[in-house]
Amino acid sequence: MAHAANLGFPRIGAKRELKKATEYYWKNEISRAELERVGLELRRRHWGHQRQAGLGIIPSNDFSFYDQVLDMTATLGAVPERFGPVEGDVDLDTYFDMARGTPEAPAMEMTKWFDTNYHYIVPEFTKGQRFRLASSKALDEFKEARKMGLTTRPVLLGPVSWLSLGKGKAPSLDPLDLLEEVLPVYAELLGKLKDAGAEWVQIDEPVLVLDLSDRQKDAFKTAMQTLSAAGPKLMLATYFGGLGDNLSLATSLPVDGLHIDLVRAPEQLDDVLARIADRHLSLGLVDGRNVWRADLDSCLDLAERAVKAIGTDRVEIAPSCSLLHVPVDLDQEKTLDDELRSWLAFARQKLDEVAVLATALNEGREAVADTFDASVKANKARKASPRIHNPAVAERLSKVGPSDLTRQSPYAERRVKQAKIFELPTFPTTTIGSFPQTRDVRKARAANRRGDMDDQSYEAFLKAQTKDCIAYQEEAGLDVLVHGEFERNDMVEYFGEQLDGFAFTKQGWVQSYGSRCVKPPIIFGDVSRPGPMTVDWLRYAQSLTDKPVKGMLTGPVTILNWSFVRNDQPRSETCRQIALAIRDEVQDLEAAGIGMIQIDEAALREGLPLRRADWEAYLDWAVGAFRLAASGVRDETQIHTHMCYSEFNDIMKAIAAMDADVISIETSRSDMELLDAFAAYEYPNEIGPGVWDIHSPRVPDADAMEDLLRKASRVVPAERLWVNPDCGLKTRGWPEVKSSIAHLVAAAQAMRSAVPAE
Ligand code: GLN
Ligand code: ZN
Repeated sequence: MAHAANLGFPRIGAKRELKKATEYYWKNEISRAELERVGLELRRRHWGHQRQAGLGIIPSNDFSFYDQVLDMTATLGAVPERFGPVEGDVDLDTYFDMARGTPEAPAMEMTKWFDTNYHYIVPEFTKGQRFRLASSKALDEFKEARKMGLTTRPVLLGPVSWLSLGKGKAPSLDPLDLLEEVLPVYAELLGKLKDAGAEWVQIDEPVLVLDLSDRQKDAFKTAMQTLSAAGPKLMLATYFGGLGDNLSLATSLPVDGLHIDLVRAPEQLDDVLARIADRHLSLGLVDGRNVWRADLDSCLDLAERAVKAIGTDRVEIAPSCSLLHVPVDLDQEKTLDDELRSWLAFARQKLDEVAVLATALNEGREAVADTFDASVKANKARKASPRIHNPAVAERLSKVGPSDLTRQSPYAERRVKQAKIFELPTFPTTTIGSFPQTRDVRKARAANRRGDMDDQSYEAFLKAQTKDCIAYQEEAGLDVLVHGEFERNDMVEYFGEQLDGFAFTKQGWVQSYGSRCVKPPIIFGDVSRPGPMTVDWLRYAQSLTDKPVKGMLTGPVTILNWSFVRNDQPRSETCRQIALAIRDEVQDLEAAGIGMIQIDEAALREGLPLRRADWEAYLDWAVGAFRLAASGVRDETQIHTHMCYSEFNDIMKAIAAMDADVISIETSRSDMELLDAFAAYEYPNEIGPGVWDIHSPRVPDADAMEDLLRKASRVVPAERLWVNPDCGLKTRGWPEVKSSIAHLVAAAQAMRSAVPAE
């Protein structure tokens, strides 16, 4: 008999109960016992959902109060020294300190989990580090489920992935040096799980879909040898891509089962089947990364191929990866229309899909014919729906040629024309776009959405905010102003809501990190722009001042990467459609007299494929989309872009190929080190390296900023440097913003008197 399995369920709760409880706990508004009660209730509820859906294999330890990587870190006792000596188990407060920092100890670093928008806490390693079993979480949760009569399959992040995702704090330390130290702790834990009654344990090793070094490959052999001797049977889970050249490694490891992602890489099935031997095979057939309803017939085709090769008893049907990356329950969406709803599946609906596939395998498709027919019908209807296809968009895209991707003149010529118009000083000062989204701003927005504040009053309120903000920036002596983005809730949602082809949920929350959740838009159809989106705001802001006001747009790649994207055409195609819409907006801003326009590409790097070999193709279309959005303007119009991360070395060529007149980037925390990449490449255009870390409430003093600017001017010619913060200021408060901006302006002035103009 084939089993229906799950790899992980979203833990935030359908109503974000976990987020709310955690934040109350942090604010001391509820007790720890109360927070733990909410956690327990959610775990029980989610196990119940899975049991109710008819799943035979249900995970435990997929719950987390913050992050599953941090859970493993705590379990292995890998608490960095600055959080104090920990005796006995790592308690919840230490755990939260590691994630969030304390006044004395900065938080552990956080970074993106593979190519998702989930962020994990990066393990830190030191030379000679010791590990020990320092948490009973996995065991406790297994026992909890047992009390409900469920024997779960606990999930542990595997040792090779856990180490590979971490960072050695000593320069010569390779995290894999610590493998031998870590394995006994894993073995101890596995032994305890076995004693408690766990027959199987799911070992997540997603790094198996990445390019691996020989050392990592060897580590897998050593690690799985130890783990497989420890007791329970092991289901080795890989996801987010195909095994590729690691396929023979993965199928040679001494484990009892292998999970593969057949949504991202269906082509690997036959090769895996040929090598699976007597192991179990878990087929990741239902997309755990996107919100579309599965095409059950094609899933069943793949499953039947597997059954033909190895029989039903060793086959499991599962989502492609943990369902952490999709919203909890479509049934909560009361405002989506029926047509759109019929195309979608969230976590709970995906469980049903998994279960029905298993039934079809075991009892024949006829046994569940109705469900299958409904799925086929919905998918057919979606393909044919006029809401998806807009012939005008296709027509327009087919006419896009190389000249649409190229500015009229090269940068050197544009620079001269722009300099004449704007007459900026050297080291011109500006900001990245948003100013504080105060409680008042958020309150007004919420009131307007609820209908408690009419549109007119809301607009008047936003105008007043904008006006104050412009007046403040003039007074502060900034050279290039922004309107402040008070009308925007989110830099993607704001645009998505005004574009055709986008849908929004009310409760479609997905965990981004810790208690932070996002509600990604759903791009379901051809994208087009019914009308201007930002022009009135910019025109108004510009009418208030003689200084240039920089238009503020989100770029096509970022809009794409932060949305659920349609799966019926390549991402690149959807991206080009968004680019055309943004291009129209850029041109309308220009026509409205806005001379500088910033197109934010905060998430360009995030979209990099997991395998190096795929980078070039991605960067090619991503840069092409940006250029399509940006190139429809006169030479005199200055295009800015902004990126908020600090790793550019490996994508410098692509960044330069975007050909923005000015790029602002995050640098202050890296002490300008990343500018080396720009210097080494001889980046030709203007750069604003952030001199103020806006992620921290600290007000940097002018000397520190001047210092950073001096460092920057050693690698980038002074006449090409701008002075700005690392990112937008929407999460900051006004008092710190005012002090920091005053220091920033002072630092620029100091540089001007020290470094003579061109
Ligand atoms: N313009 C945006 C802002 O200032 C950019 C934010 C971002 O890059 N994440 O908020
Ligand atoms: Zn940013």
